[in-house]
Amino acid sequence: MMELVVATRNAGKLKEIRRLLESHGVSVLGLEGFPGAPDVVEDGRTFAENAIKKAEAVAQFTGLACLADDSGLVVDALHGRPGVHSARFSGADADDQSNNRKLLDEMTGIPADRRQAAFRCVMALCLPGQSTRLFEGSVNGMILEWQQGDDGFGYDPLFWLPDHNCSMAELPLDTKNRISHRGQALRQLVDALASLPT
Ligand code: IMP
Repeated sequence: MMELVVATRNAGKLKEIRRLLESHGVSVLGLEGFPGAPDVVEDGRTFAENAIKKAEAVAQFTGLACLADDSGLVVDALHGRPGVHSARFSGADADDQSNNRKLLDEMTGIPADRRQAAFRCVMALCLPGQSTRLFEGSVNGMILEWQQGDDGFGYDPLFWLPDHNCSMAELPLDTKNRISHRGQALRQLVDALASLPT
């Protein structure tokens, strides 16, 4: 079975990545198995820059095949913010609750027809001796005026999916993986892994 180190300390992301990849026969190793693995500073201007930086740093440290996800929420009315700063939107000590509160504050007074947003994800795959490859996904939705649902992580309770008539935090994990930005990128990755020479 192929093994991939996933370069994230975000438990929500790791759970989604592990569920999808393990259902396709890829074994996922978390960073907890690699004490001293570098904490990469995510100072890139794009999701791709950050994903490449994380994947290559952890691949170099472990010497193993490595996957990194850089993702975030892009809100039209906020000119694309929080974007690459999604994890730290509300400051250095940000957590999901403080980020969601800040998002609601910034969206105060913005009418329903101007609350469009998207989740974006770029995954970087770094295989020993090969150049790093990128896989991308994106899903459109609307920012709610209050939190709805208990599943998922991050901004999921504020992200309304008009086609599903629920928030992202109301979807079971497998359904989220079927439609999400991360699920789209992961399925392209699975196809790429399947076409590798054995
Ligand atoms: P990263 O570690 O810099 O990629 O941070 C990604 C941040 O974007 C997370 O901490 C969340 O705030 C947000 N995010 C990314 N993907 C999702 C998702 O699937 N649901 C909700 N929030 C997400």
